[in-house]
Amino acid sequence: MATGTVIKPDHAASRGHMLFTDEHDDLRDSMRSWVLGELYPHRNEWEDTYFPDSIFQRAGELGFIGLCFPEEYGGQGGDYYYSLVRAEALSYSGNGGVNMGMAVHTDMVLPPIHLLGSEELKQRYLVPGIQGEKIGCLGITEPGAGSDVAGIRTKAIRDGDEYVIDGSKTFITNGARADFIVLVTKTDPAARHDGITLFVVDLKDAEDNPTPGFSVARKLEKMGMHSSDTAELSFEGVRVPAANMLGEEGKGFYHISWELQGERLVAAAGAVAGAERMFEKTLEYAREREAFGRPIGKFQAIRHKFAEMATKIETSKQLTYATAWRFANGEYPVREITMAKLHSSRICCEVADECIQIMGGYGYMKEYEIERSYRDSRLNRIGAGTDEIMLDVIGRSYGI
Ligand SMILES: Cc1cc2nc3c(=O)[nH]c(=O)nc-3n(C[C@H](O)[C@H](O)[C@H](O)COP(=O)(O)OP(=O)(O)OC[C@H]3O[C@@H](n4cnc5c(N)ncnc54)[C@H](O)[C@@H]3O)c2cc1C
Repeated sequence: MATGTVIKPDHAASRGHMLFTDEHDDLRDSMRSWVLGELYPHRNEWEDTYFPDSIFQRAGELGFIGLCFPEEYGGQGGDYYYSLVRAEALSYSGNGGVNMGMAVHTDMVLPPIHLLGSEELKQRYLVPGIQGEKIGCLGITEPGAGSDVAGIRTKAIRDGDEYVIDGSKTFITNGARADFIVLVTKTDPAARHDGITLFVVDLKDAEDNPTPGFSVARKLEKMGMHSSDTAELSFEGVRVPAANMLGEEGKGFYHISWELQGERLVAAAGAVAGAERMFEKTLEYAREREAFGRPIGKFQAIRHKFAEMATKIETSKQLTYATAWRFANGEYPVREITMAKLHSSRICCEVADECIQIMGGYGYMKEYEIERSYRDSRLNRIGAGTDEIMLDVIGRSYGI
């Protein structure tokens, strides 16, 4: 540094994060353009109708579903960071339900098929899934068992070359529209963790007729995420070929525990990005809205709220990125993933609440998007594992 040079803080610089290459940043830009151009304009309409299936096809056509899958299955062969980039780009949709429906398909349903499925299963489900031609859902939760995954009752009993499935699943995202489900069952109903097995099960045929014995028992109404369908599903004597098993019989609990790590990390990235979008919109508002003759952002009380929010968002982001780096480099950092999911989910809800406060009565109105973000973001502390379960996983990781 030359003597006399004045170094000024570069608050406004748009610095890339060291985790991401120019290719990641280019993808983020192009996906954000798509989201702003083709999803954001429909954010209000889809609250009443669910977002259309064609969004999956369009995302598949543009290559956004297969970012992290190998080229031989129609993917782009990118690294894990592309999942974070996708979650961040989707945060511009102005509609949490779309982001959730997409994330379930891309980050929860397809990865276990890729990791655990036979070549035939990959051709039948992963390839059309990447194209967006087939939509998937994930069935873990049941009316009688949510956090306690080992307590599920849906059973799959062997009969020759098939298994016969009986039971029900609830709160299933994409459940009313999905072509297939990654289903968590008990092949040994008397056992807990060691009795669980995963299957890919067709929910409909090529003509959209439901698989015999399967039905959508109810479409559920909820507090937020309105554009995403959430269903209770019923299985009565549904037959699935033994060849549709994912991974090993009796090892499903461990397989799904692996799946949940990717799901939680992407949930953390989505929560951070969601909080950033709320922050930005509210900052814009605070610059323009005047009270007592000045923009409300000029009141120290309001300025400090932004400072608190920005600091919380930054800590969640750094924790999420650092953990993603470990995950992408072959570690299995369950403790840190759990911390990232817990922390980011909480921060996202705190930011949503504070943004409403800053916007006053307008924050409470539907025409300002914070109201929807507040309702949508509340799910973060429940879905993919509740705060309490996250705390338990972290606590147990210390051997207590
Ligand atoms: C909109 C939405 C979409 C969803 N999408 C899907 C999906 O696609 N697929 C799917 O399988 N599931 C899905 N879920 C289900 C979600 O994962 C579960 O709701 C969540 O895991 C909690 O389970 P539960 O609702 O049965 O609550 P419960 O497990 O009954 O928990 C109730 C309360 O008890 C607490 N609790 C439970 N056990 C403990 C413990 N050991 N220690 C301390 N506290 C405890 C919980 O933290 C919670 O506060 C979705 C849920 C919602 C709301």
